[in-house]
Amino acid sequence: MVEVELIVLNGKIWTGQLYPAPGEKAASAAFAEAVAVADGRFVAVGSNEQIRTYAGRNTKIIDLQGRMAMPGFIDSHVHFIFGSLRMSQVYLKDTRDEAEFTDRIAQKAKTLSAGKWILGGTWDETNWPGSRLPTRWMIDSVTPETPVCVERYDGHEFLANSLALKLAGISKHTPDPPGGLIVRDGSTGLPTGVLKDTAVAPVERIIPRPGWDEFEATLKAGLAEARRDGVTSIHDMYLSRFWSPNDSFSDLIQLLRRAESEGWLTCRFYVLGPIEQWEQLAQAKTLGASGTDFLRVGAVKGFADGSTGSRTSWFHEEYTDQPGYFGVPRRRGCEMESIVKSADAAGLQVAIHAIGDHANTEMLEIYERVGGPAAAARRFRIEHAQHVRPREFAKFAELGVIASMQPYHAIDDGRWLQDRIGFARSRTSFAWRSMLDAGVPLAFGTDWPIAPLNPLLGIWAAVTRQTLDHKHPEGWIPEQRVTLGEALRAYTQGSAYAEFQEMAKGTIAPEKLADMVVLSADLFSIPANQIKDERVILTMVGGKVVYQEAV
Ligand SMILES: [Zn+2]
Repeated sequence: MVEVELIVLNGKIWTGQLYPAPGEKAASAAFAEAVAVADGRFVAVGSNEQIRTYAGRNTKIIDLQGRMAMPGFIDSHVHFIFGSLRMSQVYLKDTRDEAEFTDRIAQKAKTLSAGKWILGGTWDETNWPGSRLPTRWMIDSVTPETPVCVERYDGHEFLANSLALKLAGISKHTPDPPGGLIVRDGSTGLPTGVLKDTAVAPVERIIPRPGWDEFEATLKAGLAEARRDGVTSIHDMYLSRFWSPNDSFSDLIQLLRRAESEGWLTCRFYVLGPIEQWEQLAQAKTLGASGTDFLRVGAVKGFADGSTGSRTSWFHEEYTDQPGYFGVPRRRGCEMESIVKSADAAGLQVAIHAIGDHANTEMLEIYERVGGPAAAARRFRIEHAQHVRPREFAKFAELGVIASMQPYHAIDDGRWLQDRIGFARSRTSFAWRSMLDAGVPLAFGTDWPIAPLNPLLGIWAAVTRQTLDHKHPEGWIPEQRVTLGEALRAYTQGSAYAEFQEMAKGTIAPEKLADMVVLSADLFSIPANQIKDERVILTMVGGKVVYQEAV
């Protein structure tokens, strides 16, 4: 018997199984006690007795003492640098009222020298009494020399203070740009500081870019977070706004390549580029840069609409609380089709953000026309796929379109969604059950930093659908819950399938990459509601332990 580098014994190891082909029912998942690892891959999976035979004099042994282990989590939708950056920025999402919001910004301003920007934020005015949008007048007095541009948590609205507006040249006389809105005071017409979507561009242009050192430190901070959370692979949706030395997508690739060659890239990246840059991406791919086990390119991402929180997701019927208003498509259908067609013809995988039901319908139609009878082989993706008309689940399945979804968004948006779009549409919102029952390939992720990176929160959300306001203890639209096994599969092999890597990772099986996590409890034997309180205690990437909880 060959001697291996590492054996892991005495576990309750959930191995998962091959992702079922669309339309096929999944078999029940198998558990193993032990695994053997060599050259970064699993070489054997089985009982303690079987695996012990692989041990030699130099074999490292990890005794799991009965704990649950499973394949490393694969997050199918993150904005990694953006999330990493957030960790050092002001945090506003949990502020309970306007005064606390002001105070948090005042505290941050005190730590910065004059002229340094306050960025980040992720505020959510729906947590405040009155739910009014913030204004620059709430923060001007505490930031006289500090330009501020803080973002709503959904990324579609920003609050700039007076100094930032002045530096950016935005005044009462600035017209609303296409695709954006400058919110103005009802009586004076003065900008309140809230800038929607593209209206923030003049401010973003003047925010100083980081140097390479800062960019690298940011990535390192994010990787540390991923190790703690047991996230061993991610699909990086770059940034809707770049944040790199040259403000370009290639900066990220350059940094990741270096991280890989220097051996500190502890999470595998599948990097999607902006669909507008499909030509450069296609060129990189044909030059053989499409990938290693740690870094792959070859996909593009675009936007079909905005978000329901900022009322820019695009529906067939009007918003329930805003008669005559249907949301906003991001670009004209024919333009979307032509760019999808070009990217697809260049051999790139296409992933499009679509949240409202109309945006989803449009993307399914475009994918059907572009892919023709071979659509399923393309593995087209719809990112979010939050609101879908019942008749369209079958279409997703028929075309093999991957629903790349983020369970945590459901328990967050579930607090107010029904007021905005009514009950009928809510029943097929975040409709994981309907997707799986129809045979749609489902991939789970977080949209970090829009939601926390911790996968166990998403798993908990998927199996309970308890909203964050605790108002739905039995689950909001509970018929759309999924089982624990289904949630774990979507978060591992479902995401692997979404990046054409189901043969390399996503389950624990011989020859697959040895990416595995050990959990603080056996998720299968605790009440579903406790999943959110558990944690990852060990993370292994390619057979190397990259994180281990201190004991
Ligand atoms: Zn996103």
